Amino acid sequence: MPKHVIVIGAGLGGLSAAIRLAYRGFKVSVFEKNATVGGKMQEVVSPNGYRFDTGPTLLTMPFVFEELFQSVGKTLSDYLTLLPLESACKYFFSDGSSFTAYCDLNRLREEIARVFPSEIENFERYFQYSKRIYDATAKHFIYNPLSFSRLLKSNPLDLLHIDAFSTAHAANARFFKDARLVQFFDRFPTYVGSSPYLAPATLNVIPFVELAFGAFYVKGGMIELAKAYHKLAEELGATFYFNHSITRILTSNAKVSGVQLANGETLTCDAIVSNDDAVHTYADLLGKKHIAQKYEASCSGFVLCLGVGATHEHLAHHNIFFTSDYEHEFAEIFEQKVMPSEPTIYISISSKSDTGQAPESKENWFVLINAPFLSPAYDWHEQKSAYRNFVVNRLKSLGFTHLEEQIEFEHIITPMDLKMKFNSFRGSIYGISSNKRISAFLRPRNRGMVKGLYLASGSAHPGGGTPMVTLSGKFAAELLMEDFKV
Ligand SMILES: Cc1cc2nc3c(=O)[nH]c(=O)nc-3n(C[C@H](O)[C@H](O)[C@H](O)COP(=O)(O)OP(=O)(O)OC[C@H]3O[C@@H](n4cnc5c(N)ncnc54)[C@H](O)[C@@H]3O)c2cc1C
Repeated sequence: MPKHVIVIGAGLGGLSAAIRLAYRGFKVSVFEKNATVGGKMQEVVSPNGYRFDTGPTLLTMPFVFEELFQSVGKTLSDYLTLLPLESACKYFFSDGSSFTAYCDLNRLREEIARVFPSEIENFERYFQYSKRIYDATAKHFIYNPLSFSRLLKSNPLDLLHIDAFSTAHAANARFFKDARLVQFFDRFPTYVGSSPYLAPATLNVIPFVELAFGAFYVKGGMIELAKAYHKLAEELGATFYFNHSITRILTSNAKVSGVQLANGETLTCDAIVSNDDAVHTYADLLGKKHIAQKYEASCSGFVLCLGVGATHEHLAHHNIFFTSDYEHEFAEIFEQKVMPSEPTIYISISSKSDTGQAPESKENWFVLINAPFLSPAYDWHEQKSAYRNFVVNRLKSLGFTHLEEQIEFEHIITPMDLKMKFNSFRGSIYGISSNKRISAFLRPRNRGMVKGLYLASGSAHPGGGTPMVTLSGKFAAELLMEDFKV
């Protein structure tokens, strides 16, 4: 009889684990509280022809996704098309200048020479610095489950290279004189929901990952990635139960024995992979309430999906409109825990690369603003429509004067929605923040705290973001197979 594994959640982390386990002969049952796969990778389709990805908009590290398909004898391109983007993002600074982060390194160098002529050598030094962090962290923190015995055997020079004793901002300010370039590099820790003014400079690994491996979009919408994972998991024999919420993990003799569903029904199993948020898994499904005090959540997001009945030639697929005072913005988010009074605004327009995403001569704007995780300091029930109006007015002041009249469809997502829909820790996007020097060590491990429980999600090792959660599913599945000697 094959061993029965229950996977809680059909987000990318759960799907990644389900694919690998089904391929290796386990009986895999995936229980998802919502009606669709993908977790935070969702879509909204408007009746008037606009389509929006409401979660991830940018992919990097394509080899991580390719490896998942290869690991079960398949080819990613048979399931979906990853489109390499010409630029990862276009940046608009508060002084009116702009800078395009081209994916081709030589073109990027030309752009740096054009906008920041005195910084080109500093950029070359920074690229090597970021690469050294990548080389030092890859084995320990990115491509393997966390292992202290492996860490103890590591080259002591690696510890120097990871630059854990500066903040990301302090390190960036060491390299560059132009405050705009510092701000550009300071943005990368937000990819994992952290503040550049608090997070260790180890997160300066992220620029290397984007610059070296490129930026990608999934043809038809990012949701196609989740649909492809789902299709593959079903082909390999995994069974999916949608609209089924797990409310309890059952244990017997200090080992998992089954789950309880919201309707009270119980099911037995040999092991569990939880793609549910790690803090929610421990605090609510296992009853270990104290766990939530141990962690700080990553930041959350306020999302406005706008169907805009006009085109804007100066915008790219991905755009950032920076605030004039980045430090103040992060202090508001992480210290005061309120929405920023002068926010940096991200606008992703997938119709720039994929015309079917909006009606002809119109654009699908996904507007994202970093938000604090949920706390009593900010009440979304009261503030939701006021903040929506504030953002639209701010966009008008950035030159989109007629925006209000051009909006043909809109949909709002608040941190409260992320918590309610996905059980995410305090409504966070990326699970646990990386704001502390030791965050990477404290992050919940893939082998859970109860025998037979494994964690595969952005709130577990190695962290948030689509490639990382795909790796999280890989580590959870591999550790499970190791324990079951498969
Ligand atoms: C607005 C936004 C923008 C983002 N932008 C990017 C980006 O550009 N690039 C990038 O790489 N990443 C981005 N991310 C982050 C990325 O979406 C996440 O890191 C990743 O999708 C998380 O996947 P996951 O598998 O860990 O969890 P989730 O996606 O949270 O999936 C968990 C699943 O488990 C289900 N579940 C939870 N509890 C239970 C239960 N008790 N019973 C049954 N089911 C349960 C949930 O419903 C959900 O479907 C973004 C996220 C958001 C919200």
